[in-house]
Amino acid sequence: MNYEVKHFINGEFVDGGQRFPIIYPATGEQIGSAPAGGEAEIDAAVAAARTAFKAWGPMKPSERRKILNRFADAIEAHGDELARLETLDVGRPLRENSRVYIERTAANIRFFADFAAMLPSEAYPMENGYINYVLRHPLGVAGLITPWNVPLLLETWKVGPALAFGNTVVLKPAEWTPLGAWKLSQLAQEAGLPPGVFNVVHGFGPNSAGEFLVRHPDVNMISFTGETVTGQAIMANAAPTLKRLSFELGGKGANIIFADADLERALDVSVRAAFFNQGEFCLAGPRIFVERSLYERFLEAFAERARAIRVGDPMDPETQMGALINHEHLERVLGFVERAVKDGARIVAGGQRLELPGPLRGGSFMAPTVITDVKHEDEICQREVFGPVVTVTPFDDEAEVIEWANGTRYGLSAVVQTREIHRAHRVAAALQVGTVWVNDFFVRDLRVPFGGMKHSGIGREGGRYSLEVFTEPSNICIAV
Ligand code: NAD
Repeated sequence: MNYEVKHFINGEFVDGGQRFPIIYPATGEQIGSAPAGGEAEIDAAVAAARTAFKAWGPMKPSERRKILNRFADAIEAHGDELARLETLDVGRPLRENSRVYIERTAANIRFFADFAAMLPSEAYPMENGYINYVLRHPLGVAGLITPWNVPLLLETWKVGPALAFGNTVVLKPAEWTPLGAWKLSQLAQEAGLPPGVFNVVHGFGPNSAGEFLVRHPDVNMISFTGETVTGQAIMANAAPTLKRLSFELGGKGANIIFADADLERALDVSVRAAFFNQGEFCLAGPRIFVERSLYERFLEAFAERARAIRVGDPMDPETQMGALINHEHLERVLGFVERAVKDGARIVAGGQRLELPGPLRGGSFMAPTVITDVKHEDEICQREVFGPVVTVTPFDDEAEVIEWANGTRYGLSAVVQTREIHRAHRVAAALQVGTVWVNDFFVRDLRVPFGGMKHSGIGREGGRYSLEVFTEPSNICIAV
């Protein structure tokens, strides 16, 4: 395997910038290289996008829809290859890049292509007979910056609406996971997206492609998903050019389990919320709170399930958890566990690196980890670990658990598990997060607002909320 990733600028694959290695997380081996784009590549991509906008912006939405639906078709047709590349990028088990994952990747394009072609408009008739109506305009060039944990989903989640609403795009994918975006570029070309409409510049963040994109005066907006501290840097760098910003940032989800919950279901949901994507998931539920009368029973059964998770070769269909993104990140996650133990926590399952035999020896694997005896203010309960590590804590009453759940600087998502319908509504409404799942986890409808409160984001994307992000309205007032 030797993938030679290139930038995709103005419809062509080009080099530019020093090449850096692409590492397969499960073996630690280099499987290719990608170019670290700099100012020249960003300038070229933005110029191409600016020129392409002249035709793409005014194009009839029904025409854009045809082209974008061909792009979605191409994604589906190459689903197996995309799934494999995503596993090589991220280290997630192939079985988690299931048909549903690829369908959702394509749906991110298809949904917004259809949505944009069927938009209603607003009108405000006045008492004096004047009529106001509202037109929607694309912004121009959208800069999209994405993280490494679920690359294909997050890239298309931005590319779909940005293009469907008439903007042209420069995407800067995460440096650790360039393969998926590279394949998307090929599929965009194959689907006949006009040159310059969709550009991809690979590279890093600070003082590299990411920062140059944010600072570029000809980029009209930045939609960013990633760490909260990166969002702060982007906000500062975007200030001189007054760009519109949409941020989906970190999370520290609570998973609240009341004693009346269906235990088997609660265990299934909690295992997924804890360990999907090796726990490298913004929407994860790493803080489990269990009502005291169920606590011991839940903890024992949950720890047993965590120990039974098959960690191994991500390409093996039997594997349930793959490798963390790289050794540097693994060390960071282990550091959190070590400090939690120093703070008085007890490890009930896992807690250590896993050394696997054969070619997987160089992989960054970790045992699914369950920790108890933590205090709400401990680092492990407050900071985003972004790995397969969860804390389980008993609670005595509803008010207390709501206060704990809300007691971090994040506010992205939460899970509430109970069979009592009034409590489900009450607790869900009291949580300061962008999404609450009741008795389930990670169910997504592309029409609903997605994003976070507090330090988990600014703005919402999804359905008409993406319309707000990727267009601007004008009011036309007609005299009688
Ligand atoms: P990151 O912030 O380190 O990097 C994200 C992207 O930003 C990368 O492409 C990176 O190159 C780029 N970048 C870094 N510094 C930059 C700068 N100064 N200017 C411009 N671009 C810059 O995040 P990550 O480690 O790739 O991803 C993990 C984080 O993403 C976690 O905090 C996770 O919670 C968050 N996340 C949030 C959501 C959500 O929907 N809210 C979804 C997935 C991941």
